[in-house]
Amino acid sequence: MESLLNDLAEFYESLDAALQPTKQACGACGECCRKASKLRVYPLELQNIRRFVKDESCIRKFVDFSNNKVVKIWGDIEGHCPFQEGDRCSIYHVRPYFCRVYGHYNFRGSNLLKGCVYCGHSIIYYDRLELPLYEEFLKLMEKVPQLV
Ligand code: SF4
Ligand code: SF4
Repeated sequence: MESLLNDLAEFYESLDAALQPTKQACGACGECCRKASKLRVYPLELQNIRRFVKDESCIRKFVDFSNNKVVKIWGDIEGHCPFQEGDRCSIYHVRPYFCRVYGHYNFRGSNLLKGCVYCGHSIIYYDRLELPLYEEFLKLMEKVPQLV
């Protein structure tokens, strides 16, 4: 597991580098962690987060959402991420793939949140396979199909 978590940390570094060319820094307004949406979090990512989160109640809340496979930490209608503190992400360095690409990439036909700095600057995608390093990401995620 440790080796996979190291692979994930390296993957996130590559992903963040791949996102740099958008030359747009997140405005850190926190709206995307506060507003209704869907966010996929995979088991390996969850394991990674668990290494850094000491607040057991927050972890339980997070795992409750997970149904042991894919986590929706945003509600379908409303709700905010349990890791949001004020406007900020309390697990920023281990935040999941989809938190990292939000805004840089935007699914065709959906609108970014009003005021998001990426409005008008996003790369529109039609299929998740168009997301940066997505196949590499899935291969890594498939190595841990269940929560451990
Ligand atoms: S994990 Fe962090 S970036 Fe992702 S939704 Fe939660 S607070 Fe926001
Ligand atoms: S809504 Fe946009 S600007 Fe605000 S925190 Fe999310 S990605 Fe950053």
